Formats: sequence, structure tokens, C-alpha cells
Amino acid sequence: MASSNQNDPHGFKRRGLLFVLSSPSGAGKSTISRMLLEADKGITMSVSATTRPIRPGEVDGKDYHFVDTEHFKAMVAEGEFLEWAHVFGNRYGTPRGPVEEMLKAGQDALFDIDWQGAQQLHQIAGGDVVRVFILPPSIEELERRLRSRGTDSEEVIEGRMSRAANEIAHWDGYDYVLVNDDAQACFDKVSTILAAERMKRSRQTGLIGFIRGLGRSA
Ligand code: ADP
Ligand code: 5GP
Repeated sequence: MASSNQNDPHGFKRRGLLFVLSSPSGAGKSTISRMLLEADKGITMSVSATTRPIRPGEVDGKDYHFVDTEHFKAMVAEGEFLEWAHVFGNRYGTPRGPVEEMLKAGQDALFDIDWQGAQQLHQIAGGDVVRVFILPPSIEELERRLRSRGTDSEEVIEGRMSRAANEIAHWDGYDYVLVNDDAQACFDKVSTILAAERMKRSRQTGLIGFIRGLGRSA
């Protein structure tokens, strides 16, 4: 997938990046995503489509685009997803159009997607993708957080816990692996990764003109 150029703080053009945050459910990726979106106006959330039912407090179009299975299948058939996967018995997918628009508008894109989505994005967009996996400090703490969130029934919590080991088993499909012990410390690390990735030479497409300019003035 082609991504457009954007300006970094020094004015050099650079390629936009696709920043993926994954974790077992409850480890804190939504919390870290919210902090990042609040602190960094250069990155925009990709809102996924899903067939799972809306939860209390969620907003259609903001948290997800909630669609029925027929609608989702039609979107797949029309090639409207960059990637999609079955997760916890429901379908989830990343709509292609908004991501292309973000990159065109000079924004990086943030994805809260699972390991299957991270893998698919990496296959289509390769070096433009940065994958970060967030671990809980312990399995006990993961369960405590799922309960403290207060959004899921006992049955759903048990389901999420029994799938956590499988999700954690995909840790090695990521570029960075962090432990979310203290949320602020984890957020700081995520911000550092994003800042460093933005400065990678391969992304700084505008550097070559600057370097040539330096050569001419020497
Ligand atoms: P996920 O998006 O990975 O499913 P959430 O961000 O919803 O997880 O976090 C699950 C719960 O844990 C929420 O109630 C959140 O406030 C809490 N939480 C997140 N990070 C931490 C942390 N570092 N320490 C304690 N609680 C946390
Ligand atoms: P939840 O139902 O708790 O919001 O999300 C369940 C899981 O689905 C999470 O691991 C989340 O990262 C993942 N997910 C959400 N949207 C997408 C998506 O568009 N694609 C993929 N592959 N996974 C997604």
C-alpha cells in the first residue's frame, strides 16, 4: 500500500506510517491509544468495522462501525478492507478508504487490531508498518483489569482470559514488545518508539534534497 509524504517538525517530507498497537484484551491498548491520540495531533485512529454487538458507552462511528454480518461480507467482497479477521467469534476489519485519506492528509494512522491484522498489514504495507505488542505485568493483573473495566459479563471475561495465552503466543510477530505496568511509563515508551520511527532515514524522503543543498553550499 502506498503511503503519502508528510512533513516532520523540521520540514522534511517523510512517508506516513501505520502504527499498530496489539495486546491480549485488557492489557491496556485502548488506554495507551487514548493517551497517544490526546498527546499527538500527528496521528489519527483507524476506526474498524465489526459485527460484534455494541457495548454500553460505545459510540457507533467512533469506537467502531457496527455492522451486521451481511454488510460486513459485502464490504469484504467489494475489497473495502485493508485487512480483516475473525476475533472472538466476530468479524473485525480495517476500512481502506479512511486510512488512505489519513496518509494523504499527512497523518500517521493508529490501529488497535489483533495479531492477524498486524500480520496482514505488514504483508501489504511492509516497511510502512510499525507493530507494538503490549503485555500485562502478570496474568492475575490482566484478569483484575478486565474485571475493573466493568464492561464484560463473567462469561465474556472467562473467554477473554482463556484466549489471552494464544494472543500472547504471537508476541514474536511484533517489532516492539512492552509491559504495561504503569500506564504513564508505557505511554512514554510508545511515544518514544513513534518519535524514533518517524525519524528513520528510510522514511525521510525529503532528506535527499536537503543533503544536496548542503553539498551545494559547501
Ligand atoms: P484493552 O484495550 O487492551 O482491552 P483497556 O485499555 O480497556 O484494555 O484496559 C483494561 C482496564 O485496565 C481498564 O479499566 C483500564 O483503565 C485499566 N488499565 C489500563 N492500563 C493500566 C495500568 N497500567 N495499570 C492499571 N490499570 C490499567
Ligand atoms: P474488542 O471486541 O474488545 O473491541 O476487540 C477484540 C479484539 O479485536 C482486539 O484484540 C482488537 O485489537 C481486535 N480488533 C479490533 N478491530 C480490529 C480490526 O479491524 N482488525 C483486526 N484484525 N482485529 C481487530
